[in-house]
Amino acid sequence: MRQFEGRQLLVATHNAGKLAEMRALLAPFGVAVMGAAEAGLAEPEETEDSFAGNARIKARAAVAATGLPALSDDSGICVDALDGAPGVHTADWAETGEGRDFGMAMARTWRELEARGAPDPRRAQFRCTLVLMWPDGHDEIVEGVLPGRVVWPPRGVHGHGYDPIFMPDGHDMTLGEMTAEQKNRLSHRARAVAALIEGCFA
Ligand code: IMP
Repeated sequence: MRQFEGRQLLVATHNAGKLAEMRALLAPFGVAVMGAAEAGLAEPEETEDSFAGNARIKARAAVAATGLPALSDDSGICVDALDGAPGVHTADWAETGEGRDFGMAMARTWRELEARGAPDPRRAQFRCTLVLMWPDGHDEIVEGVLPGRVVWPPRGVHGHGYDPIFMPDGHDMTLGEMTAEQKNRLSHRARAVAALIEGCFA
């Protein structure tokens, strides 16, 4: 994989939490991180049908707008018995027209599993794809996967999104019942970042 030799990196996210996480993770490698909001970037439309495709759209837009190398991510939950749905539509399932309602999105996930009579355990994975793109258009793609199952009813008050209905393999708590530290040690995002660091920064 191509090594990242630059000193500055645009992280193509408007999410302050993800930005802070990336900044901290890349600090040991002497990389100064700038966020999408700071660079005045708009959020491009995610029109691809894969996490990698959508992450590439975000990275390409950020490189084009700033001339800097850019890192983008796309993530979601894929449920086996729903043929991988909601997948790239994970956030869309929570869209109400007046903001996002993840209670509604989790209920839909469960309803669709029930409608299909899906057997237990209802296997699923959280997936996170990262794209690191250089100004010459070269990119490197890594993925982090967290396997587990969907449970009902939702459990726990931590985390975000679909965390309360997802129980990672090897644990008897949902992500919603874990502290941020516990989740960050095993999450799909942490696994993707570890792969990126090993491939491009170490
Ligand atoms: P994005 O990659 O920020 O577009 O995230 C897509 C959607 O996936 C989010 O809105 C969440 O609903 C969901 N998602 C991604 N990562 C997680 C997670 O760690 N826990 C719960 N939901 C997640």
